[in-house]
Amino acid sequence: MLVADRLTRHFGGLTANEEVCITLERGTLHALLGPNGAGKSTCINMLSGDLPPSSGRILLGGKDITRLSAAARSHLGIGRSYQRTNIFPQFTVLENCRLAAQSRRPRPWKIFTDAQRLGDTVERARAAVAEAGLGGREARVAGTLSHGEQRQLEIAMVLATDAKVLLLDEPLAGMGSEESAKMVELLRGLKDGRAILLVEHDMDAVFAVADTITVMVNGAVLESGPPAQIRNSAEVQAAYLGE
Ligand code: ADP
Ligand code: MG
Repeated sequence: MLVADRLTRHFGGLTANEEVCITLERGTLHALLGPNGAGKSTCINMLSGDLPPSSGRILLGGKDITRLSAAARSHLGIGRSYQRTNIFPQFTVLENCRLAAQSRRPRPWKIFTDAQRLGDTVERARAAVAEAGLGGREARVAGTLSHGEQRQLEIAMVLATDAKVLLLDEPLAGMGSEESAKMVELLRGLKDGRAILLVEHDMDAVFAVADTITVMVNGAVLESGPPAQIRNSAEVQAAYLGE
């Protein structure tokens, strides 16, 4: 679905991504691993349209989208979550998802004049809440949710935009083992009909859910392949797993 073709990004003299190639296939989860500062968030930022690459291309379904804005990419079905929580704490779970669902529309304000479409948006928001495992908590004020539930809400907000490509930057950050296990289960269910790029540090979680793993070190891809290949790679172990 989504292809990063030799993406490079410089920050002054620093090369945060150097000719990074990643392919996201429908129905699969691709994990991006690497130590802090390896360039994982930079890669996601380029794919989402939040950061222009210095060079390289991004293809969605074969179409070059490198120059499209983040908003335009969202309309094409690319959704992302951020490394830091990004919800409206004073709004309810459903309201957060409704706002996300509306933001996908070319003219979000038109929603208020069109009862039918408002209904569609609420439907989509409810479906997203349920798919993210928050069914029954629609009316909860987001700020009162547990940390794990707040991260589930972020996923729900991405789903509410009807995204088919999910770019998730450390959705398990700060979670306890029980919350992590729940999130891994959730991610597994989200693969169906979608392509997921997951940035994550937790090895157990990554090996439990990933179909493909790319390991980055110092802005470059060290190795990419199925979990068994990555687990047994001497290079990866030396550079990363062994730390
Ligand atoms: P990761 O997500 O793997 O921890 P990042 O992509 O956030 O890594 O960062 C990769 C490198 O790029 C780091 O050295 C970081 O300091 C640098 N970097 C990231 N964003 C910026 C920026 N906006 N300006 C300057 N340097 C940046
Ligand atoms: Mg990061």
